[in-house]
Amino acid sequence: MQMTVPYLSDAPFQPAHPQSLFIANRWVQPASAEQLEIVCPMTEEVVGEVPAAVVADVDRAVAAARAAFDSGPWPKTSVAERAGKLREIARLLKTRADALAWLWTLEAGAPNMFTSRVSENCGMIFEHYADVLEKACLVDARQRAAGGYALVTQEPIGVVAAIVPWNAPIFLAVIKVAAALAAGCTVVLKPAPETPLDAYILAECIEAADLPEGTFSIVAGGREASDHLVRHPGVDKVTFTGSTATGKHIMSVCADRVARVTLELGGKSAAIVLDDIAPTDCLPGILGQVMGNCGQACVTLSRILVQRDRIAEFEEMLEHAFSQVRLGDPFDPATQIGTLAMERQFDKVNEYVRIGRDEGAKLVVGGARPAGFDRGYFFAPTLFSGVDNAMRIAREEIFGPVLVMIPYDTVDEAVAIANDSPYGLHGALFTHDADRAYALARQLRTGSVGLNGNTMDLTMPFGGWKQSGIGREGGPEGLAGFFEEKTIYLPSMPAAMVA
Ligand code: NAD
Repeated sequence: MQMTVPYLSDAPFQPAHPQSLFIANRWVQPASAEQLEIVCPMTEEVVGEVPAAVVADVDRAVAAARAAFDSGPWPKTSVAERAGKLREIARLLKTRADALAWLWTLEAGAPNMFTSRVSENCGMIFEHYADVLEKACLVDARQRAAGGYALVTQEPIGVVAAIVPWNAPIFLAVIKVAAALAAGCTVVLKPAPETPLDAYILAECIEAADLPEGTFSIVAGGREASDHLVRHPGVDKVTFTGSTATGKHIMSVCADRVARVTLELGGKSAAIVLDDIAPTDCLPGILGQVMGNCGQACVTLSRILVQRDRIAEFEEMLEHAFSQVRLGDPFDPATQIGTLAMERQFDKVNEYVRIGRDEGAKLVVGGARPAGFDRGYFFAPTLFSGVDNAMRIAREEIFGPVLVMIPYDTVDEAVAIANDSPYGLHGALFTHDADRAYALARQLRTGSVGLNGNTMDLTMPFGGWKQSGIGREGGPEGLAGFFEEKTIYLPSMPAAMVA
């Protein structure tokens, strides 16, 4: 299948300042001539370039964020003023949702139908944090047993470095940026080098919302720039989404200066299919794991646990269903599955198929580039059966449209298998019995549990147990990650509290 994709300069949506960097809320010349090439995963061709931020750009962004935090107005603005700015960014993002979705599809190959749905919610995330901020208790006056008062205040944590991956570039960025700005922090955002374009649109919105100078910068760059940002003494907190390996590295670097960290890392989430639900009722929830983002989502339910005597029935159903999924041009509204995001992902998924075969798992369907697609990082939805939870394909995050089916004999055994993982991000029960689902969900060692599919609602706390991360995003818990608590002892209530 041949696809044509316009060069960025001819595209229907494009950043207004593609050859600048957004540092200290202004479009500026980059420090070097280095460029990031945008490779379209449908055609494997370079479709655009933007400047790569280098160490000098990172220094400039952190210095501006530091000055804006230490002596600028943003951390001291009233709740009403900050919430007002967040709502203005939300409004502007909503008017640019089409551009966000289109550029995301161009860079990462996820179907435009999917990226449109997610991009529409980006404005909502800013509104959500405006609401959470307005309801937050930022000063709690407590009477001391020894007499007098303690005022426990929530203070913005400082300069925040927000580092995000390529799999949902704008969505993962706004979750961090909205919460940090709501708390009164200043922010340096580091998008993945493969997917920097959406951040340009976010910057245009923040520029138009007229936030104080230095509150927000973007430094899209490679590992060296990112590592420099993490090590920078001017950064008080790193909020990171990405692989567990990088998260461990960042945590160890931050330990040196006890910088605060929130880590949203990998997953190998399990879906336990209970005996009361028909296989066909499970189908939409299972298919959802390989469609949309081509399995490149942290919450993908990549381990499907099915009663041993129903395995054959599920194999037959899923073999048929996976081979019917509409794979193709991600800009076609009928397309259900696009491409993997890049060559490195394509190679990784192929390698795991080889590992699964070598481990003796049964390849039920998929396992390769689909017929007729000789260009682009297309990969057929894949199911392995006969999988033991000790196999690498059951323990390691593949991050592609590859599910493994694991048999169980008792529900207790299914819970034990689900929990036997280095990860603990998400999980799901497939059942019509919500009471049974609740009881079993309480036994799963994961940050969230869905019913009959994966569920991610970023107005609720989201995050991982075990090696899936530390901290939460979404809800009041997400905002709390950008505050430090301070306890102020006073003999009497200050006038500001009495008024
Ligand atoms: P990655 O860790 O390779 O890269 C993520 C980001 O970190 C990128 O911006 C990258 O440039 C930067 N980076 C890489 N090495 C660095 C270093 N040494 N120091 C500082 N920064 C560095 O991850 P990836 O492969 O791009 O992303 C996929 C991973 O993200 C998967 O494991 C997925 O599960 C995870 N993820 C987690 C969540 C969540 O909320 N838990 C959400 C989405 C993705």
